[in-house]
Parts: sequence; structure tokens; C-alpha cells
Amino acid sequence: MPKMIRKGDLPQKTCPVCQKPFAWRKKWERDWENVVYCSERCRRTGKTASPAKP
Ligand SMILES: [Zn+2]
Repeated sequence: MPKMIRKGDLPQKTCPVCQKPFAWRKKWERDWENVVYCSERCRRTGKTASPAKP
């Protein structure tokens, strides 16, 4: 019997860019600890976003 993950058991994180919670995804199973953003788009935004101008 394959290992199953119930939806209610999925870990979640909150994206610092869009402030939305996102749930664990299969594609992140090896990299969940390093996942910070909910999507590639937010990842780029988060990395390229410049801090508030003085
Ligand atoms: Zn996001």
C-alpha cells in the first residue's frame, strides 16, 4: 500500500510576498525546508524587490 498524505495533514507556510498561505506540494517534497515563496513569480518578486527607497 502506497504511502498516503491526507490533505488535512499537509504542512503550510505563508508567502512573504503575497501574504497568502500555501500548502505543501509534491514537487517540493525534497525541498520543502527551503521553500519560502508560494510560486516562482513570488520567488522572483521577493528576490528582486528592492527595499523602500530612502
Ligand atoms: Zn506568494
